[in-house]
Amino acid sequence: MRYLPLFLDLAGRRVVVVGGGVIAGRKVDLVHAAGPRIAVVAPALAPPLGARLARGEVEHVAAAFEPAYLDGAAFVIAATDDREVNAAVAAAARARGIPVNVVDDLELSDAILPAIVDRSPLVVAISTAGTAPVLARFLRERIETVVDGAIGRLATFLARWRGRIKAGATDLRERRRLYDWILHGPVAQRLRVHDEAGAAALLEQRLREGAAAEPAGRVTLVGAGPGDPGLLTLNALRALQAADVVLHDRLVSPEILALARREAELVEVGKSASGHSVAQARIHELMVEHAARGLHVVRLKGGDPFIFGRGGEELQYLRERGVPYEVVPGVTAALACAAYAGIPLTHREHARSVRFVTAHCRESIDAVDWRGLARSDETLAVYMGAGTLPRLAAELLRHGRAASTPAAIIENGTRAQQRVLLGDLAALPAIAEAERVGSPALIIVGEVARHAAALGWFGAPPMVAPAAIIGQGLRAA
Ligand code: SAH
Repeated sequence: MRYLPLFLDLAGRRVVVVGGGVIAGRKVDLVHAAGPRIAVVAPALAPPLGARLARGEVEHVAAAFEPAYLDGAAFVIAATDDREVNAAVAAAARARGIPVNVVDDLELSDAILPAIVDRSPLVVAISTAGTAPVLARFLRERIETVVDGAIGRLATFLARWRGRIKAGATDLRERRRLYDWILHGPVAQRLRVHDEAGAAALLEQRLREGAAAEPAGRVTLVGAGPGDPGLLTLNALRALQAADVVLHDRLVSPEILALARREAELVEVGKSASGHSVAQARIHELMVEHAARGLHVVRLKGGDPFIFGRGGEELQYLRERGVPYEVVPGVTAALACAAYAGIPLTHREHARSVRFVTAHCRESIDAVDWRGLARSDETLAVYMGAGTLPRLAAELLRHGRAASTPAAIIENGTRAQQRVLLGDLAALPAIAEAERVGSPALIIVGEVARHAAALGWFGAPPMVAPAAIIGQGLRAA
């Protein structure tokens, strides 16, 4: 190891930064977070440092560098673009026994500023001893994605409770078990959802009553998005990487399942377009059974869990049984399919609102407010509608929506096999049949659908239905 990592307490101490440019500004950004008094030595300041000066966050020594400016400093950074000046700064710092960093100059530096992941009070510092800063940044990005902000709150919480924990669990083994329970169990869970009081109450109870408390598992309801793994949120990725069990819908793509923690058990609790009501009760039981064993269950659903995903029912079941849960939203099919087909769901001129509707069975179709749906200035995004498309189109037409209204079917949206079929409302059922549209498919009805012809960018270009089966609506596009 060439350099010893150290964490320097600079609060209230003097730090001198020589240089007033953009690079110096970046170093000041970094150092400022540690609370020192910063003096910037430079004839003039670039705008970012000028703004800090205006806010009273730095002192400006408006002059060329002189060694005496370093007197009393705890740390020095040289960030000018003149190597001679930087060398003079380094020599003056060394003569005074002050550690110095010279930007992009290992030879002149005796301290390196690492790449950091800041989850204060927890901080991860990464250095490649100056050999490959890109590698340090690469690693930092990876750590950023897996370590969420709650780790900092956990560190603060542990610092506050350290004395009580030590007094309450005098035996070292018991204390280790206790910490294990805090880190992996319900206390960390409460902190993740910003319930500090709940976390404190749980720890209080555990200290009072001992290990009798059950190993509490939990459930994270996660939206996996429509298929493209790039549309997962960071929180979804974190949940997958912390999962013991993943209960996933059939719709979730294999690329996304591959992101789960390697040791996690993957269970398909698939449901197809019809007849999944029996399976739903079993899904509820599975979630609770696994959580009762102290496991972290990820309930992974296509799209967003709260859009035609029965997420509400699942949460209700968990709540009734006292199982802690969290929800990670996902990109719902309407948003994703529209984006990947080049269809803006709203438009200043001809789509003032957008509605997400489903029409997958007789019952849901009968319950629909067709008159409302037929409004011409609204975009409709229809989920699970491919099977009932003839009825859907007929009802919309009967209630006054124009036969020439542009309409699109997006099959396998955001996936490699994505297909976009374009036509008008009257022709859509025939198009779907001719092209043998499969599942999953989303239907978009409204003036905005015509934009797919020009704005589509992903996968194969949209298939525009031949003139023989569409009316004039789309031709006008
Ligand atoms: N909770 C999900 C919807 C579940 S209902 C969400 O928020 O997206 C299932 C329906 O979603 C499918 O019948 C289809 O209409 C739509 N869907 C889901 N993924 C899709 C995809 N990749 N491409 C097209 N439609 C999709």
